[in-house]
Amino acid sequence: MTDYLVRAIGDRANVIRMACVTTALVEEARKIHGTSRTASAALGRALTGGLLMGALLKKGQRLAIKFEGNGPLKKIIVEADNDGAVRGFVGVPRAEVPFKDEKLNVSGALGTEGLLTVIKDLGLKDPYQGVVHLISGEIGEDIAFYYSESEQIPSAVGLGVFVEPDGTVSAAGGFLIQALPGAEAKVVNRLIDNIRNMSGITDFFREGKTPEALLADLFSGTTFHELGRTPVFLRCRCSQERVQKVLVALGKAELRKMIEEQGKAEVTCEFCRKRYDFTREELENLLLEAGRPAEA
Ligand SMILES: [Zn+2]
Repeated sequence: MTDYLVRAIGDRANVIRMACVTTALVEEARKIHGTSRTASAALGRALTGGLLMGALLKKGQRLAIKFEGNGPLKKIIVEADNDGAVRGFVGVPRAEVPFKDEKLNVSGALGTEGLLTVIKDLGLKDPYQGVVHLISGEIGEDIAFYYSESEQIPSAVGLGVFVEPDGTVSAAGGFLIQALPGAEAKVVNRLIDNIRNMSGITDFFREGKTPEALLADLFSGTTFHELGRTPVFLRCRCSQERVQKVLVALGKAELRKMIEEQGKAEVTCEFCRKRYDFTREELENLLLEAGRPAEA
């Protein structure tokens, strides 16, 4: 298990604490999308943040987070399941911006103005949706702001990705802490002090330290115990069937145009870059399906 997430709970059970290492999956995502160094850092932070947010959900629930900014990266979309699966992509994978303070400038790439939208599929009739303005474009702070602003849950989120000069991702991970109602102010203040005193989260994982060690650092001076570790990984939900549904949803006119102009169709999944090919005959069958009144 190279990438995994650790949950812990305070002995008074009112502060949720989670940390994860995501180096392997962020590197895999970088290879899939051919992202620039800064885009890799941005996507890696969002994937890690999405996983931590997903881990707060109940079994079978899922969420999507969408960052839309005024920078050259344009957007980041991440979807996470409660079981540790995540997938994501950025608007402009090759977008690059100059360093800021000798570091990759994630907020420069995403932009400091824009929106963070969180959509949760909790298994209810309608999905839950919350929207906040980006406060920094650094991803972690924006997710923490979303929780405090939209859900009124005081939270701290730290996310870090280290990208080598040759573009490979050599370290990635993060943590998420939430104070629940009834959390002791003394404990929360102690945590905030610990977070302030911590050296960079990226350095932490670069030194080869574990998520367990990260939690121990964050919670030094408070008592807690671990609830175990679970694997985290990239997993796409696309399939031939889902892509067919998308084509049918385009409608008859669009399908007819495809058949007449190209005689085939190629559809690439935005999340995993897998290509789906459709022959003329297959498209004609989909056209019939699109024409059925039940589908209209
Ligand atoms: Zn896919």
